[in-house]
Amino acid sequence: MTWDEEADVVVLGSGGAALTAAIAAHDFGAREVLILEKSNMIGGTTAMSGGMLWIPINQHQAEAGHKDSWDDVVTYLDSLAPGELDPVTLEGFLVGGKEMVRHLAEHTPVRLRTFDGFPDYHPDAPGGRAEGGRSLDNDPFPFVELGNWASRVVPPKSGAPRLTSLYEDFHTGPLPEDVLEERRRTDTRGSGQALVGALLRAVLDREIAFRFEHRALKLHKEDNRITGVAAETPGGTKNVLARKGVILATGGFEWNKELVQTFLRGPMTGPATVPESEGDGLLMAIEAGAKLGNMSNTFWMPTALEWQQQHRNAKPNYLLCLSERTLPGSILVNRSGARFTNEAASYNALGLALHAFDANSFDHPNLPFYLIFDHRFRSRYPAFGHTPEQPLSDMFAAADTLPELAEKLGIDSDGLVGTVERFNGFVDEGRDDDFQRGANTYDNFWGDRNFDAPYRTLGKLDQPPYYAVKLEAGTLGTNGGAKTNADGQVVNWQGNPIPGLYAAGNVMAAPLTKIYGGAGGTLGPALTFGYLAGKHAAKS
Ligand SMILES: Cc1cc2nc3c(=O)[nH]c(=O)nc-3n(C[C@H](O)[C@H](O)[C@H](O)COP(=O)(O)OP(=O)(O)OC[C@H]3O[C@@H](n4cnc5c(N)ncnc54)[C@H](O)[C@@H]3O)c2cc1C
Repeated sequence: MTWDEEADVVVLGSGGAALTAAIAAHDFGAREVLILEKSNMIGGTTAMSGGMLWIPINQHQAEAGHKDSWDDVVTYLDSLAPGELDPVTLEGFLVGGKEMVRHLAEHTPVRLRTFDGFPDYHPDAPGGRAEGGRSLDNDPFPFVELGNWASRVVPPKSGAPRLTSLYEDFHTGPLPEDVLEERRRTDTRGSGQALVGALLRAVLDREIAFRFEHRALKLHKEDNRITGVAAETPGGTKNVLARKGVILATGGFEWNKELVQTFLRGPMTGPATVPESEGDGLLMAIEAGAKLGNMSNTFWMPTALEWQQQHRNAKPNYLLCLSERTLPGSILVNRSGARFTNEAASYNALGLALHAFDANSFDHPNLPFYLIFDHRFRSRYPAFGHTPEQPLSDMFAAADTLPELAEKLGIDSDGLVGTVERFNGFVDEGRDDDFQRGANTYDNFWGDRNFDAPYRTLGKLDQPPYYAVKLEAGTLGTNGGAKTNADGQVVNWQGNPIPGLYAAGNVMAAPLTKIYGGAGGTLGPALTFGYLAGKHAAKS
């Protein structure tokens, strides 16, 4: 083999898992670390994200006075997926997570803080935390500190970058104008932009090199050890030697139709991620003999096709459906016009409800599904980026009556009318007898804070006109892939590590399987295994 380039550790991708892996590999002794990125941008889906991390028993949680214990976390997770958790990766996550958080705090500009009051997604499950503590948010990061590199970061999904963190929005209230002005001057950004900005600063400080438009497609193997990788570049195929290891951190496979059809448990029609998530890493892992896990799942998220259909790389852009279904005055219905779940449940749990199967009709009765809201909702709250003052785009249907709306959508009219009547009755009673919407802390978290629970999320639909948006069974990323051990080493079907091969983030089999413990449920494990993989590769 003639190598075009060499490094100790070669990291594939530049999202949250990859940047953390590169930092850890450097800090634990790898002399040369190289990042190969398929696109010409840095940050992947991580840069578009909320940037939250779910890391139980982390130092900031303890500093903020929140109590937690190993037993409580394991009880919580076990109750959500009895018998499904792999104790090896679970231990890797719990031990590695808090170590990763400490390492970033002490050695990088990443500034995480406990988000008091952000409940776990299943707060009433045994061991769940209704008062929060396990979810961490990022302090905003000034992009002036990145110099010219700032323009390399994948922009937010829609709109301008946030000037504030979600934590500030919830706990500090509106910031003084002089603070905001200073943030504009320094191009300060919150959420996933802050996370990627700070990680990128740490990578640049370590003089770790990037190679853009390097699409890794094949692993090189010698005597059963992964020795390097072949990448497609504008100048042809390039072979890169990895003396200590290759770390797969290439995201999921949600943009690869064939892989989606082959593996997922049901339809997935609206990926919200960067279009580079085509499963390249998964295919390389399969070819290397990796054991696979959690292949039928994703981090589910209902999405809607944006009015402006042409996203980067001319792929459709799917927007997250979050507060639209949790604020009072909206419901979700299926094509029978019937509600089928607690609309305010976590997006991941809701996604699982979409795949109910009818043995008689032999199809998925909850697909397609629709968001329905009334004029009161429209005049109070934004919906998919449209403020009440803005005209609605083509993604919305509107009608003066519910039967007319049902006709426009092609759904059962009597069903919809009956459903709304029944739901309005529940609102009068202050209790959703069908799906218990508003009965727990999380349901009310994304609701209207001007009201008390359950009216933060329960509100009537009785003011015409009525509106609807067709929704998709979307995802924040697939999370099935290469199984690893507690060090992030990819293992084969015999359970033995494949020397020289690591995985982190959505390319690996999620250490928490189908569970989304709380806000940050994907990035928490992703950064943890990035850290563990980088550390182990550097020391190997
Ligand atoms: C709007 C939005 C908000 C979200 N908010 C949160 C949140 O607050 N908390 C949370 O936990 N999760 C959140 N998520 C989900 C989270 O962003 C993803 O699960 C996470 O970013 C995945 O990280 P990753 O490092 O595995 O992949 P990515 O960040 O997507 O990075 C993968 C990188 O690999 C590159 N790549 C792909 N193939 C190759 C190849 N062959 N060679 C080289 N490079 C390659 C890609 O270009 C990309 O840069 C959100 C998602 C969205 C869309």
